[in-house]
Amino acid sequence: MKTYATIAAFREALDTERHAGRAVGLVPTMGYLHDGHRSLMDAAVVANGVAALTIFVNPLQFAPTEDLSTYPRDLQRDLAMARSAGIGHVFTPDVAEMYPEAIATTVSVAGVSSALEGASRPTHFDGVATVVAKLFAIAGPCRAYFGEKDFQQLAVVRKMTSDLSLPVAVVGCPTVRESDGLAMSSRNVYLNDAERAAAPVLHRALRAGREAIEQGVRDAAAVRAVMAEVIAAEPLARLDYAEVVDAATFVVPAPLAGTLRLLVAVRFAKARLIDNIGVLA
Ligand code: AMP
Repeated sequence: MKTYATIAAFREALDTERHAGRAVGLVPTMGYLHDGHRSLMDAAVVANGVAALTIFVNPLQFAPTEDLSTYPRDLQRDLAMARSAGIGHVFTPDVAEMYPEAIATTVSVAGVSSALEGASRPTHFDGVATVVAKLFAIAGPCRAYFGEKDFQQLAVVRKMTSDLSLPVAVVGCPTVRESDGLAMSSRNVYLNDAERAAAPVLHRALRAGREAIEQGVRDAAAVRAVMAEVIAAEPLARLDYAEVVDAATFVVPAPLAGTLRLLVAVRFAKARLIDNIGVLA
């Protein structure tokens, strides 16, 4: 496994792999890797001749009030996990390498970016789309692996890739959870013991919403209320949003029908956690 701090060196390494006939699998991350990231690396390793991991905590996707300065980092542990997963190349640029001067070009994906995470974090998806466009431009033709854990982000990346005809096949991978249902996240480290015990409330709320739909509820407000009630019963958790949308368009169908996605965002003292699940109606 080789690591690269510069765009030029990483780009050249992947060009060399393709020239040798090996398809490239790309796994973009912000590091502090867990088994969710591991599942993306495993998928990239099995389906491609070589797999590459990127680790970059992207300042563009954090608002000034958010956790950029405290975002957890552990490069040595990340590299050990990447090596054991069979990753061939790791790109670990610093901010000066990715943004040597103030960036004037922003990739903005209308529609799928506007609701939910986009409403709560107005600059977030522009930051994500811009850095992913840069990473795709640096990496070149590849398959790129993203988690359904960040379901709206996956939709933003898919739409951007399609709109801009980027030479990348975007692959979505299922959410990896702890045994109590909590979706794995680098931000779970912000939870104290009591909050960690309370955090599976997100998954419980989602399952309650799904159950309501499976039992025939077709009114989105009723499903939102079911999820909100579960969150409200947990004193350490504060609801940001609980929503049910069409999984492709992020529009709320009335009545609920088709391939739906239930999504929640919940605040604890220091952590803001998101999760989602799918259901057919
Ligand atoms: P992050 O480092 O949090 O930016 O995440 C990097 C990638 O890992 C994104 O595509 C995430 O959706 C994905 N990911 C994060 N957590 C999980 C999880 N629990 N299961 C599956 N994928 C995940």
